[in-house]
Amino acid sequence: MSALLRFSFLAAADSRTLQRFVQQHGFRLGAARFVAGESLDAAVPVLRRLNERGLRTNTTLLGEGVRAEAETTKVVDAYREILERIHREQLATNVALKLTHLGLAFDEELACRNVEELVAHAQTLGNFIRIDMEESRCVEATLRIYRRLREVGYDNVGTVLQSYLYRSEDDLASLLPTKPNLRIVKGAYLEPPELAYPKKADVDAAYVRLIERSLLGDGFTGIATHDERLIEHTIAFTRRHDVHRDRFQFQLLYGVRPRLQLDLVARGYSVLVATPYGPEWYRYLMRRLAERPANVLFIARNLVRR
Ligand SMILES: Cc1cc2nc3c(=O)[nH]c(=O)nc-3n(C[C@H](O)[C@H](O)[C@H](O)COP(=O)(O)OP(=O)(O)OC[C@H]3O[C@@H](n4cnc5c(N)ncnc54)[C@H](O)[C@@H]3O)c2cc1C
Repeated sequence: MSALLRFSFLAAADSRTLQRFVQQHGFRLGAARFVAGESLDAAVPVLRRLNERGLRTNTTLLGEGVRAEAETTKVVDAYREILERIHREQLATNVALKLTHLGLAFDEELACRNVEELVAHAQTLGNFIRIDMEESRCVEATLRIYRRLREVGYDNVGTVLQSYLYRSEDDLASLLPTKPNLRIVKGAYLEPPELAYPKKADVDAAYVRLIERSLLGDGFTGIATHDERLIEHTIAFTRRHDVHRDRFQFQLLYGVRPRLQLDLVARGYSVLVATPYGPEWYRYLMRRLAERPANVLFIARNLVRR
């Protein structure tokens, strides 16, 4: 049943009609639980409040699948503004972005130039950019671009591996010698059984393998999950193997398990809360519903309250 619901929400993420309906009913439908606001001005106080509680943050201008070069220029400009604003406001915030927002869906070179411009700008401001991982058709190009950036000397850039993909263990093995900065996630998209483990138990087991292998390497590992069992497993593993706390970080989503986020800070761990903003929140919200269909009840309650 829950696999069917997951499928329905991820299919809904691609429905334009549903998108129009949901966007019309705006933020109060429930997106505000997962999204810091529709503008940068609205997001900044949210980022600041999280920082004040000891949580580091990253932010993302929501949007993906851009199809024209001129549009990507606007996205690059918006990210330059975000980086400058973070710097001015002295926030403990970095940036996570999607390459399809920068043109990957139609021009890999353009996406590469765009992200390089932002990584270079972030470097001058002492900041860091994480390249999110999207659908499986983007993985090869995303890793290629990440490697190119590292090869030309940027070390303020990281990317993501998804444990549901069979290929990720090989990807990790080939990246480890480069001392990568990797966020490990389970994976949020609809993928076929030829490419991804269909069973959650297998995705979880692969997640443990990726985390352990990454933590024993020389890079930095973002453990991006709300799964308490996996978080406790990681804590026990890092103690057993003397992995220093500055070599890994727990990463959770804004609006998900906020008490757990603070508990981890109280235990002395570095915690980052991924806190996106922007008017294009629809597909992001659908992925959050797919992860936990019970979130629909939260949204239904908001509708009834209107
Ligand atoms: C910081 C961060 C960055 C991410 N970046 C990417 C990325 O670049 N590419 C990508 O494909 N995926 C990304 N993801 C999403 C990820 O792939 C998973 O879809 C998501 O994290 C849910 O899986 P889980 O590991 O929390 O475990 P699950 O096994 O799905 O959930 C474990 C428990 O966490 C809680 N939980 C999980 N999700 C939710 C939710 N939405 N609402 C409320 N409670 C929830 C529930 O209590 C659940 O029982 C990211 C996730 C995080 C935390």
